[in-house]
Amino acid sequence: MDIFVKGVSFGYSKDNFVLKDLNLKLMAGSFTAVIGPNGSGKTTLLQLLAGLYKPTKGKISYSLPSFSALNKIGFAFQFPEEQFFLNTVFEELAFTFKNKGLVKKDSKLVEEISSFLKSLDIDISLLKKSPFSLSLGDMRLISFANVLVGNKVIILDEPTVSLDGKNKKNVIKLLLKLHEKYKITVIFSAHRLDEAISFAKECLILKDGRIIFKGSVKDIFLKKHPEIFDFLPKPKILSLKEKLALKFPVDLANAFTLEDIVANLVSFQRRSN
Ligand code: ADP
Repeated sequence: MDIFVKGVSFGYSKDNFVLKDLNLKLMAGSFTAVIGPNGSGKTTLLQLLAGLYKPTKGKISYSLPSFSALNKIGFAFQFPEEQFFLNTVFEELAFTFKNKGLVKKDSKLVEEISSFLKSLDIDISLLKKSPFSLSLGDMRLISFANVLVGNKVIILDEPTVSLDGKNKKNVIKLLLKLHEKYKITVIFSAHRLDEAISFAKECLILKDGRIIFKGSVKDIFLKKHPEIFDFLPKPKILSLKEKLALKFPVDLANAFTLEDIVANLVSFQRRSN
């Protein structure tokens, strides 16, 4: 299901637009990072896409007729773990499964929910625990699984915020799995390029409520839009490439990951020996 944003502006109050004339197409199965400094409009845009707000001007439409974003797009707020309210992880997920009408018989709930978590590589022993007793990393994964139930589009507001390195990786692994294996459309926000550049495919950069870049993450690496770095910190991997390029006469333009960089340097070293 594709999402079309045409001439969309939005203000929380009259005449004070925080999103300005946005035009955008998000294709089914795409994996998009919405990046921008604090206050640039990321959360507002994500909430509009999820149907939580209506545009003040312009239109958001969906390729499926009579599609209801509110029922069919999963939206994970920042710190989604704050939304837990039941005694066990199982009860949290069972509530969502039943609410969405996904399981007819209660006797099937344990089986269905266990296989759902297994499909996402989430440990099913968490089901018995209180959601409030989990580590922040596990809380986050369960929240995202809960938001995903029954949806083909998931929108996440700063999904890795406050997580340490290991838990960040687990969240990224989950998002990649949703995108690559289950062809879920994933849209998420981040305020630094570093948090998205290594794994998202498409990138949308917002500044003061306007889209100032829309394209592949690779284009950012290829420095097609250097003005981006006037207001967003340069990704560490790009700075590393620049430093290495000064030291070694090796072309790293097409190196997009640390692995690419290392492979290029190794082959350069072999050629020089
Ligand atoms: P970001 O997610 O990039 O930090 P937001 O979408 O949260 O940006 O905010 C964009 C602008 O809208 C900011 O100036 C912010 O102060 C304002 N804003 C956000 N939420 C509200 C709200 N509920 N009421 C009024 N203004 C808001």
